[in-house]
Amino acid sequence: MTDITTPDKPLDFIRQIVAEDLASGKHSSIVTRFPPEPNGFLHIGHAKSICLNFGIAQENNGVCHLRFDDTNPGKESVEYVESIQRDVHWLGFNWGEHKYYASDYFGQLHDFAVQLIKLGKAYVCHLSGDEMREYRGTLTEPGKDSPYRNRSVEENLALFAQMKNGELAEGTCTLRAKIDMASPYIILRDPAIYRILKSSHHRTGDTWCIYPMYDFCHCLSDMIEGITHSICTLEFENNRALYDWVLDTLQTPCHPRQYEFARLNINYTVMSKRKLLQLVNERYVDGWDDPRMLTISGLRRRGYTPASIRSFCATVGVGKRESWIDMGVLENAVRDDLNIHAPRVMGVLEPLKVLITNYPEEQVEEVEGQNHPQNPDMGTRKLPFCRELYIERSDYMENAPKKFFRLSEGREVRLRYAYLITCQQAVKNAQGEVVELHCTYDPATKGGSAPDGRKVKGTIHWVSARHGISARICLYDRLFTAEHPDADKERDFKDFLNPGSKKVLDNCILEPSLASATLADRFQFERQGYFCLDSKESQPGKQVYNRIVTLKDSWAKVSEE
Ligand code: ATP
Ligand code: MG
Repeated sequence: MTDITTPDKPLDFIRQIVAEDLASGKHSSIVTRFPPEPNGFLHIGHAKSICLNFGIAQENNGVCHLRFDDTNPGKESVEYVESIQRDVHWLGFNWGEHKYYASDYFGQLHDFAVQLIKLGKAYVCHLSGDEMREYRGTLTEPGKDSPYRNRSVEENLALFAQMKNGELAEGTCTLRAKIDMASPYIILRDPAIYRILKSSHHRTGDTWCIYPMYDFCHCLSDMIEGITHSICTLEFENNRALYDWVLDTLQTPCHPRQYEFARLNINYTVMSKRKLLQLVNERYVDGWDDPRMLTISGLRRRGYTPASIRSFCATVGVGKRESWIDMGVLENAVRDDLNIHAPRVMGVLEPLKVLITNYPEEQVEEVEGQNHPQNPDMGTRKLPFCRELYIERSDYMENAPKKFFRLSEGREVRLRYAYLITCQQAVKNAQGEVVELHCTYDPATKGGSAPDGRKVKGTIHWVSARHGISARICLYDRLFTAEHPDADKERDFKDFLNPGSKKVLDNCILEPSLASATLADRFQFERQGYFCLDSKESQPGKQVYNRIVTLKDSWAKVSEE
């Protein structure tokens, strides 16, 4: 397994608690769990929880369970179960033999519910959902007792059996914990713990038509598995009172402790499975793994490395206060990783033909390019050079200002690793568009420097027109134009989708070495950013690349201006 500890960083508050519990002997070994509901694909927020739970287990020689919290049959599926496993593995974590499903505990959970009834601590209630809300009270007013609250144990047992046997219709009643309708914790005002749902479950089929509620199921699943530290996000802080009530009331042999940390929020995106599902279903994106989505599968397809996501999670840390992380922090994490590891190549995104008029027509020579100028160990490669080349259209400008250090009539530029060339003439078509540049090269400047020491400021990338391979390249921008697309409750978050979030370039020309690129490769296209093949669109003979990230944080520049 990959070690993600950062020894130079102080322990976060949860790791501190774990360390104290080990030191004091409260626990001799640590058991955590990552408990996704299989109702969607995992996103970058889940990655934070995965890194935390699996990270803590790994650092303390403990174990981390993968538990599917599958108590909502209508919304869950095997497809999601499989995608979750793929994503956790890809991030570099392993649950070994500890894969569990809450649905495995349905029998035990049912028996615990019966036990609560026998203790006089649960009752079957026929209030409708609306009535329940009405009876619940508010933060300032206590609730009212349900008229069904004082049924006898026998009656409750019989009714709960009817619920279980499918004799009662969906929505007619629930099993509620009998706690305290005046509790300052609204969650303790007789919460529902079982409901009737007549839908097939992806694992238990039609065995059950009652399903446990989260708060009843989660603490007992943790208890059954012997979890020591049950780590969840802050919105569950109030639920802790119920978590503890269930385990205390049932006097379970072990009582895991729940700790809450601040969830990950990133700007310019939405981070809720429900909203991501909407984008997928309504086809605003190309599936859960669309490279613009901050799902783990989207980030993988975009070209993010597992290491960059782990490093991002370590950077944002684990705290108790809600905060917003700038999207740029995530982009920087992958940029930093790829800057070290990605070989450099040349690719022209929007090509303009160049004819070197004084270069022999039949001649082809090879120039040598470094695969990583800062890391000579990554070696070199040969680049074919000939009379016809492609350069980036934006590297030529008619009537260019003085500070334009690229091509314009009469100006000299360096072709990376090759020669100095001077633009003699721009050839235009009938519409007046520049279609080709006629240039001359200086044969004495092979490698890119002039023997007479003359200074040439600009260096541009190029590809031999005879040898280059063609490709499609997708450039991405943030999916939303608003910093907090779901902050305005009056507006739909989809109103803030960025119409320019995907730009497809169909006529790109890449250096020939890329013919052997594989799905596992990531490259820096010099001056253009980091790229990888798209796992869905690329086929033999038809390369489609995604830009993972630009070389610099262009958004930071925009906000500085
Ligand atoms: P969503 O809010 O996106 O629908 P969820 O919380 O319903 O997600 P679960 O499958 O229940 O999704 O989440 C599994 C685990 O991941 C939970 O322990 C949850 O606290 C954690 N988690 C979910 N979102 C985040 C987040 N943004 N930051 C950190 N942890 C998260
Ligand atoms: Mg949830």
